[in-house]
Amino acid sequence: MARYHIETYGCTSNRGETQQIERSLREGGHHPADGPEEADVAILNTCTVLEKTEQNMLRRAEELDEATPGDLVVTGCMALAQGEEFEQAGVDAEVLHWDDVPQHVLNGECPTVTPDTEPVLNGVVGILPIARGCMSDCSYCITKQATGRIDSPPVEENVEKARALVHAGAKELRITGQDTGVYGWDRNQGDSLLPELLDRICAIDGDFRVRVGMANPKGVHGVREELAAVFAENEELYNFLHAPVQSGSDGVLADMRRQHAVEEYVEVVETFDERLDYWTLSTDFIVGFPTEDPADHAQSMALMRETRPEKINVTRFSKRPGTDAADMKGLGGQTKKDRSKAMSELKMDLVGEAYEEMIGTERSVLLTEDGREESLVGYDEAYRQVVVADGEARGLEVGDTVDVEITSHNTVYAFGEPL
Ligand code: SF4
Repeated sequence: MARYHIETYGCTSNRGETQQIERSLREGGHHPADGPEEADVAILNTCTVLEKTEQNMLRRAEELDEATPGDLVVTGCMALAQGEEFEQAGVDAEVLHWDDVPQHVLNGECPTVTPDTEPVLNGVVGILPIARGCMSDCSYCITKQATGRIDSPPVEENVEKARALVHAGAKELRITGQDTGVYGWDRNQGDSLLPELLDRICAIDGDFRVRVGMANPKGVHGVREELAAVFAENEELYNFLHAPVQSGSDGVLADMRRQHAVEEYVEVVETFDERLDYWTLSTDFIVGFPTEDPADHAQSMALMRETRPEKINVTRFSKRPGTDAADMKGLGGQTKKDRSKAMSELKMDLVGEAYEEMIGTERSVLLTEDGREESLVGYDEAYRQVVVADGEARGLEVGDTVDVEITSHNTVYAFGEPL
């Protein structure tokens, strides 16, 4: 039986893939090694979100290649979309799809999967990938080449996986996928099954919360009333929606081939505002897309001000090889820099105001991880991160739910005092 070393980079979806790989390996009798030097096989689960990430991935692959006496397997988004780069860099690695990694290590034996052995991170967080793939074809995206069209397992199958995670002790289920909003489009004539799935998961016996991962505005828009109602009716659900709009200009969205219009995103936000008193809107903007002119940029800024997300990711556009957007004539570096700075400043203002409004309120926080200097870190009902100081001295531990009063904040956390 093999000793394996596995490293994972990127999003929770990728971490979910690693969990599945590890589960198969352990069920096949393989076990983790004490570092790559001790491993019969080293596995690098890669990410390819930014150009800088790619360079880091290549460098890490070279280091692992050097360090491990065994095989090196690279998998994940970068491996699948740009696998040839590892070879070009002189890295001796087997480039594999996530699904093929266990098979490679298992040497042809089939793993047996039992639903009650799902691993739970920190003893608290269970990652539940509900589907792989998406229904879009964004002109700047390289991930699509790795993941393909949405492939949704039936609702019942995902509910059973969620039940297994809860039985294994998960207090927080993180529902992941490239685009959770289109879960079920492939088996339900283009209608999302996400509301039904969430409703069913929330009905599972147990004490847990559920965070829904990234859902593009298009998929959510079609079921916004139903979905907002499910959030309002089930306290297990964190009141948190990550709907990446990417631009406030319909022209740019069309060039990005994003499928949604700005108005659809706004309608989603309005619907959630109507149904939920306290919730977190998380969204992403790409700044400096090749066809973005000053008026488009101004529209993005205006949309940010109008919808006031509490969590915002601003990404400066960078070309991904093999995508259509890579062939477009890009904007100058200074233009991108200036726009990104303006947008980041606005983001800091909006997020700061959202934290400021939390001060003095009482929140129920599920503690999910150890923080620095004896603190514990968790999430409140709207999935806003809250730090509780001196956790151990107060008799608290990861997995507890604690009522706190929010006393202060910095740019990324709120601080809570147990009541
Ligand atoms: S939704 Fe767009 S960005 Fe996301 S994986 Fe699909 S094609 Fe890529």
